[in-house]
Amino acid sequence: MKGAAGWVRDEIRTLTGYHVAPADGLVKLDAMENPYRLPPDVAEEMGRSLARVAINRYPDPSAPGLKAALRKAMAIPESLDLVLGNGSDEILQMIAVALAKPGSTMLALEPSFAMYRLSAISAGMAYAGVPLAPDFSPDLPATLAAIERLRPALTWIAYPNNPTGNLYPREAIVSIVEASPGLVAVDEAYFAFAGGASFLAEVGRHPNLVLVRTVSKLGLAGLRLGFAVGPREWLGEFDKVRLPYNVNVLSAAAAQFILERRAILDEQTGAIVRDRGLLEAGLDAIAGVRRFPSAANFVLVRVPDAPRAFEGLKAHGILVRNFHGSHDLLAHCLRLTVGTPEENAKLLAALALAIG
Ligand code: PMP
Repeated sequence: MKGAAGWVRDEIRTLTGYHVAPADGLVKLDAMENPYRLPPDVAEEMGRSLARVAINRYPDPSAPGLKAALRKAMAIPESLDLVLGNGSDEILQMIAVALAKPGSTMLALEPSFAMYRLSAISAGMAYAGVPLAPDFSPDLPATLAAIERLRPALTWIAYPNNPTGNLYPREAIVSIVEASPGLVAVDEAYFAFAGGASFLAEVGRHPNLVLVRTVSKLGLAGLRLGFAVGPREWLGEFDKVRLPYNVNVLSAAAAQFILERRAILDEQTGAIVRDRGLLEAGLDAIAGVRRFPSAANFVLVRVPDAPRAFEGLKAHGILVRNFHGSHDLLAHCLRLTVGTPEENAKLLAALALAIG
């Protein structure tokens, strides 16, 4: 049979791809984007600088300028290696591909970022999810038992977690790293909103720990740039499965330009953290909304009827993410990205109506 059905791997055929909802004309609070653009004068200066980039040449895969800017902006020590990805999504994929020995398992705490499972399946790894406790903290006995039983090649921990928004207790993560025979990857996509909480200082102290970050949530989601930080022993192997020119010259130059003006990003993330506090206070004032604590640029809430609230918000022109039906622990949960003060006010007013 010549059709796809006879040839595509069964686990790919049964997979549902990553869903991106159409957002035309809606206030987009579904994808943890930073709502702010660059100041116009900076954007123009960046445009002039990008005009000088040699787009006729392949990128320099060692990207020395961009790596130096990342190291400086995020205080990454020279003793640790960096591998760049086309978004941290691509880093997830590289790590899975490098570790996907036949019969190997990826473990993640659930609910968490959907791409962990997708990257496991597409790389040919088995995937196992260990449910979090109902308060979204790790169920440590169950997690350690799963590690013992499954001996995962790779365990993902999102810190803070998406979509729950919380930071797990540090000791729980250290126990997981120490108990794991394989690699533990701590995904700090939301580090900028977490008040300085990070495992960066732990990397290099454990032989099986790497960190993954992205510039997406800082306001650069469209550039597609993420990276892994860790010991050379691991990163040198991931680098071999990286496609040679995975970060294009314009993205690399734009990211470097902006990282060298980090104050702009800091100002924007600072505003988002302040506005998260206001959004949380506003949510707490709406009867029927249960809000979960957040160390990220979004807030998870439980409402009496999430599908209805989701549609009600959409009717008011606001797109959020409905997690109802995706995991038992997320029954009637919506994830709300922190937007501009005006967007947040609109969200609060519409939510009060939508659940009323
Ligand atoms: N990790 C986590 C926990 C995320 O929530 C996301 C984005 N939703 C990513 C990684 C991927 O981000 P990107 O590919 O834009 O770097």
